[in-house]
Formats: sequence, structure tokens, C-alpha cells
Amino acid sequence: MIFNFQIEKILPCLADSTKIRVVVSIDKDLSEYFPYVKGYLKKGLYVPKHPSFSIKKDGKTFNIYKDSITLIKLVDEKEALRDLQYISDLFEEVIKNKDNITPDYSQNKPPQPLEIMKYLPKTNCKICGEESCFAFAVKVSNEEKNILLCQPLFTEEYKEKRIALLNFLNEAGIDIPADFA
Ligand code: SF4
Repeated sequence: MIFNFQIEKILPCLADSTKIRVVVSIDKDLSEYFPYVKGYLKKGLYVPKHPSFSIKKDGKTFNIYKDSITLIKLVDEKEALRDLQYISDLFEEVIKNKDNITPDYSQNKPPQPLEIMKYLPKTNCKICGEESCFAFAVKVSNEEKNILLCQPLFTEEYKEKRIALLNFLNEAGIDIPADFA
């Protein structure tokens, strides 16, 4: 592999509780190649701000950051090793052919506040420090506030909405807390 890795966490999958999420740390910063991988695959979600790159494969999502990778919707640890090998092979191929690939620096649209609103408690309780749930949704959309600040969302009552929202934000390239399900 082109990077060494260490499995840091194995967690229940946010999107499917029968599957797992695996968080690994890596010792190689691949972020300069994210636009090249996007140009090569002609797909993927590139977020330069973090920076991060997300790929979907066989119904799974791989989120690649500067120093870690999160693999989502896996059956077991063995699958994680196979997927890490796939990611390594993909980047190796892209790095080898970099001069012949047109990088794609385009960014996907951020999630819309109204979409985020669908999953919030809508009580306007102000615990998050905002006047309303909508004001909070706008800040989450702009990545000015972390979703963790909505404490009611992380209670049992809102478990279903929470899982759906974290999944939605993750798919949209927003950094989500890895430990909450
Ligand atoms: S803490 Fe959550 S429920 Fe309360 S206002 Fe903020 S977003 Fe709405």
C-alpha cells in the first residue's frame, strides 16, 4: 500500500445499524491528489476546506481526509482491508498518471438549510446559541457551527432523525462526529 494505516475505531454505521464504520489513521497526506482522483473517476465529492474526498463504491462510502479514512457501511474488518487496498491502488494509479489527468477542482453544492431543517427538533429552544432551528441550520450548512451543538438532537427521542441527518451531512461532505450513532 502507498500508506501505512492503523485502525482507530470500529463503530456502528450511521446509515445501517447492521453494518459498521471503520476509522483508520494514515501516515500519508493524499489531499493534493483529490482533484486528480475526481478528474480520473469523473465522480466523487471534493471539499477543499477540510480537505476531504468521498467516493462511493458498491453502496459504500469512503471518506478520505489528510490523515485518516472513514469507511462506511462495511460488513466486517476484512472488508475494510480490501477497501483500503482499493483506495491505495486507486491513488497509486492516479499518482503514476498524474500528468495525463485533468484535475477537477469543482466543489459540490453545500447542503441546503431547508434540507437540514427537516431533521432538526424544530423547537427553537436556543440551546445551540441560535434564535431558531433555521438559523442553526444555516450555520451548519455553512460549516460555521457543528451539529453537536444541537443537544436535543442527541437524545433518544430524536435518534432516527439524528441518524438520518448525520448520514445526510456525511453524504454532503460535512464533517460529522464519528462517535455518535
Ligand atoms: S438546539 Fe437544536 S432544537 Fe434547539 S434551537 Fe438549536 S437547532 Fe433547534
